[in-house]
Amino acid sequence: MKIGIIGGTGIEKNFAADSLPRGIITSFSDKLVMLKEIIIKGTQVYFLSRHGEDHIVPPHEVNYRANILALKKIGVDAVIAFNAVGVLNPAIDLGWLATPDDLNTLFCYGRPETFFDGQIIKRKGKEVLMKATHVNMSSPFCPQIRDTIYKAAARLKIPTMSGGVVAVTNGPRFETAAEVKALQVMRCDYVSMTLHPEAALAREAGLHYASICFLTNYATGIKNARPDENEVYAMMEKMKAAVPDLITEIIANLPDTFDSKKCYCSYEFINELVELENS
Ligand SMILES: [Zn+2]
Repeated sequence: MKIGIIGGTGIEKNFAADSLPRGIITSFSDKLVMLKEIIIKGTQVYFLSRHGEDHIVPPHEVNYRANILALKKIGVDAVIAFNAVGVLNPAIDLGWLATPDDLNTLFCYGRPETFFDGQIIKRKGKEVLMKATHVNMSSPFCPQIRDTIYKAAARLKIPTMSGGVVAVTNGPRFETAAEVKALQVMRCDYVSMTLHPEAALAREAGLHYASICFLTNYATGIKNARPDENEVYAMMEKMKAAVPDLITEIIANLPDTFDSKKCYCSYEFINELVELENS
């Protein structure tokens, strides 16, 4: 079992020491995707900084396809994503973590959101047709990883919400009050800028994928909030102290192999492309 960890807000610095840099090239980018390999509890873990190592790339410009494919190419089976989110539900406390169980991407647009867009990918005289493919998203976050996350957090006494709907907006700006009201009408609990198309691409790639959301701030208008990026970063700084222990506890308790009957993650559509790219 190899694990990918996608972080968005500087948590990778906790693991900077003793890590081995790995650069992976994919058909979806001219640039290398940089991973940091580190052994945790005997497991190979690959850390990917979603916004680049200097936190430069905004959410709508992240090359989600290159990132997910790089993890798949290096043999990752399961991905844990960290996402800072705004809270839409005033009954939920800030400073908690959450493992959402559903996703609403209706406010997110203009991002390449599938590997299977009809293009032909060529390499070394061979080619793969990325023909239309439809994956099941009835349970977009792997319940087996979610369960492990929730129990690990409970053992460490880290307050964590299990479940909830996370919406995704395009960013990089925060939402307007009218947009927040619309998301509340749609029964969303949290709002992210980065979980789409990352979760859908992970599903297409056959990766078990779940998110750990940092509940950093109330969304615009909730309890009169006016989100401010400095406040979000300050909250992140406080919250990420618990992350190294949490990651270690999760990795120590993930199943050795995932039961394909317990989730919808085990697709093999992308294997032909991975074989071609790794040839
Ligand atoms: Zn799964």
